Amino acid sequence: MVEENIDEVEETPVETFEVNYACLRCGTAVSNTELSRLPEIKCICGFRVFTKVRPPVVKTVKAI
Ligand SMILES: [Zn+2]
Repeated sequence: MVEENIDEVEETPVETFEVNYACLRCGTAVSNTELSRLPEIKCICGFRVFTKVRPPVVKTVKAI
């Protein structure tokens, strides 16, 4: 039996890190993927002002 090897050309995906937003009014965190699915950028509370929340920077701290 000969197994077929299908080489899938996999493009290197553009690194899309998730950006989180937080509602200025209630502080509900929404990811940009969630926001893009919404017809309009709006929080569940009705507020439409969001602040960008940066994901915590992973730091390698050597505590020696
Ligand atoms: Zn809100």
